[in-house]
Amino acid sequence: MAETFISERNLKFLLYEVFTITDLTGYPYYEDHSQEVFDMVLDAAMKLSKDLLLPVFEEMDKNQPEFVDGQIKVHPRVGEFMRAAGEGGWINANYSYDAGGQQLPLTVTLAAHFIFSAANYSASVYPLLTSGAARLIESFGTEEMKEKYFARMFSGEWQGTMAMTEPQAGSSLSDITTLAEPTDNGYYNMKGQKIFISAADHDGVDNVIHLMLAKIKDAPPGVRGISLFVVPKQRIDENGKLEFNDVHVSGIYHKLGYRGSPIVQLSLGDNGDCRGYLVGEPHKGLTYMFQLMNEARIDVGLGAAAIASAAYYAALEYTRVRPQGRRLTDKDPTLPQVPIIEHADVKRMLLFQRSIIEGSLSLLFQCSQYADYEKVLTGEERKRYSLLLDLLTPVAKSYPSEMAILSVSQGLQCLGGYGYCDEFPLEQYYRDVRIHPIHEGTTGIHGITLLGRNITMQKGRAYKVYLEEVHKTIQSAGEYPALQSQTRELGEALDVLNDVTQHLVGFAQEGKVGLFLADSTLYLELFGIICVAWQWLKQAITIRKALEHNLSGAEADFYNGKNYAFRYFFDYELPKISGLAKTLKKSSGITLAMTDHLFTD
Ligand SMILES: Cc1cc2nc3c(=O)[nH]c(=O)nc-3n(C[C@H](O)[C@H](O)[C@H](O)COP(=O)(O)OP(=O)(O)OC[C@H]3O[C@@H](n4cnc5c(N)ncnc54)[C@H](O)[C@@H]3O)c2cc1C
Repeated sequence: MAETFISERNLKFLLYEVFTITDLTGYPYYEDHSQEVFDMVLDAAMKLSKDLLLPVFEEMDKNQPEFVDGQIKVHPRVGEFMRAAGEGGWINANYSYDAGGQQLPLTVTLAAHFIFSAANYSASVYPLLTSGAARLIESFGTEEMKEKYFARMFSGEWQGTMAMTEPQAGSSLSDITTLAEPTDNGYYNMKGQKIFISAADHDGVDNVIHLMLAKIKDAPPGVRGISLFVVPKQRIDENGKLEFNDVHVSGIYHKLGYRGSPIVQLSLGDNGDCRGYLVGEPHKGLTYMFQLMNEARIDVGLGAAAIASAAYYAALEYTRVRPQGRRLTDKDPTLPQVPIIEHADVKRMLLFQRSIIEGSLSLLFQCSQYADYEKVLTGEERKRYSLLLDLLTPVAKSYPSEMAILSVSQGLQCLGGYGYCDEFPLEQYYRDVRIHPIHEGTTGIHGITLLGRNITMQKGRAYKVYLEEVHKTIQSAGEYPALQSQTRELGEALDVLNDVTQHLVGFAQEGKVGLFLADSTLYLELFGIICVAWQWLKQAITIRKALEHNLSGAEADFYNGKNYAFRYFFDYELPKISGLAKTLKKSSGITLAMTDHLFTD
């Protein structure tokens, strides 16, 4: 695997130059921090990745978790990494001081997750899942729950999970049937099945704490009847000892990629003795879970961009040393072969990857920055950031997830036949990255969320606020003659977006819900491309400012290289919206009209 798997220079460019993340330290909540602290966090993440994660990247893929004697066995490094993550304060890094955390901005911890995920995505998810599960207890649980679970979850001794999916309820969570029967003893008796639960059991930890969705007996049907429970694998008895909580592993799935992390089938209450502890109020479980899911969705987008980053650097290294063919203009067969990076088409593949990775990362930091400001602002400003975060979360999850697959594919293509073989890591990245459009909600479901809910919510207010933000960037970019054409092109792209949005919302107003939402995945794609173009224009302003100085050497190369990636995105990716807009405006309804039996031959 390549020595380089992320660009630290690019991370710092985004954090400090584009998103000026140190501005946050002007607010009391973040005042103990500084750029020096943030740099130390990034350095520590790099060290941990190089020491613990990178060395077992392939090994964890080749030795996937197995179900043996009623328990899931994982690679020994998982336990080591969980402890190291606990000792290093990574699991609760962005929790408040009151909760024992370090009050680090989400944007900074996200940058650290990017490093971990690029080094070894499978390993990186274990602490992340624990952090997310504990967040639900922090936000909605009782003090007693915090006392019981926090210390050992934050130390990495106990794993956290989010347990929602059931055989009949994947995308459609309203159909879950796991039952919670109230008792007079302060707990509920749980009975049911959960499938595909990440890290739901393994021997790298001493216990597993499931944050689980279930329906209380006689609850209203649908999403309004879903509640949230803490269901430990081993509960704590009156003497503080651990006793088995009747949570059985009934199976493990073997996956295409992302093999170092198990997905597990659980059976609850086989012996009628599985206790669940209600978190917050009854029937509010899905609303609570959405808080975790929104954070997790940003992390999924980030994981996709991170794998694409590692694949890109592996491809880049290869293209610099692989001699093959001669330049298009050189006809003389006696001339030496050139490294393939000299070929325009190979440079196209590399630029494609860079434009996707760095554009996606920028969008993800944009979202985490909204979340960081949401924490410290009040009133209208806070509402504005909340709306933007809400609107953009499905885009920040789906665009990187979908595009990272294409990006890794192009990385693999750069290696030709070797890309397809397991002597090089590209084939593993290609398998690993495929999960992202599936977990944390499929792309199809996020398309429906974006168009069917987010665009129209509060009479289109979030959409309007978003357009204002993009226009601010357009206005700032307008001051730079070198950005004239891209500034105009983004303005035109917004006109296209408005035109398509009005057209589709028109169907909703006429009550034609089918036509409104039939092509929402395409709308999500169009929206995502424009969103990332906005992020690139934002970066381009910073690039221009830097290039006004007399730069030389590596710094000049960095900004000039970024400038090419920016121009690539506008020349090669943004134009793709025309085709999408054409299909969306046509609204032919063929996917609505096509019927099951016509799919036969
Ligand atoms: C590796 C992995 C890790 C996972 N980790 C977890 C976890 O930790 N916790 C957890 O609870 N779950 C987890 N899951 C489950 C995951 O969230 C679900 O697989 C996902 O939500 C899709 O559900 P499904 O598999 O049942 O697919 P389905 O819901 O059956 O969807 C199949 C296809 O139909 C489409 N579709 C479904 N309904 C609609 C609709 N109404 N309109 C349009 N299209 C639709 C989908 O977009 C998809 O393309 C994990 C899954 C995997 C593979």
